[in-house]
Amino acid sequence: MKKPKLVSPDKKRCQGERRVGAFQLGPPQQWRCEKKPVAIVYENVPSPDDGLKGSMSLCQECLTAFKSRYMYQNENFTIKHLGIRGQCKQAVMIDAEQ
Ligand SMILES: [Zn+2]
Repeated sequence: MKKPKLVSPDKKRCQGERRVGAFQLGPPQQWRCEKKPVAIVYENVPSPDDGLKGSMSLCQECLTAFKSRYMYQNENFTIKHLGIRGQCKQAVMIDAEQ
């Protein structure tokens, strides 16, 4: 059995992984999302994959995808929102950085 390794949540970059296409030609391509995270998701119970309680940061888009995928077992997760509220404030923050 491989030794599992926990990665702490990255508050600067979403840790969601995206998959390309629904085609079954070759292995699915995956890459890490590069958006700014809006929330951190914590596992309340150890995951069946690695037996550890993990956490990861997610952007709004990945969070929505995560919620729709795991809604049926949402008691297994705690979602903690970061200090960004709504798209307007986020847009202002981005403008201010430029
Ligand atoms: Zn993302």
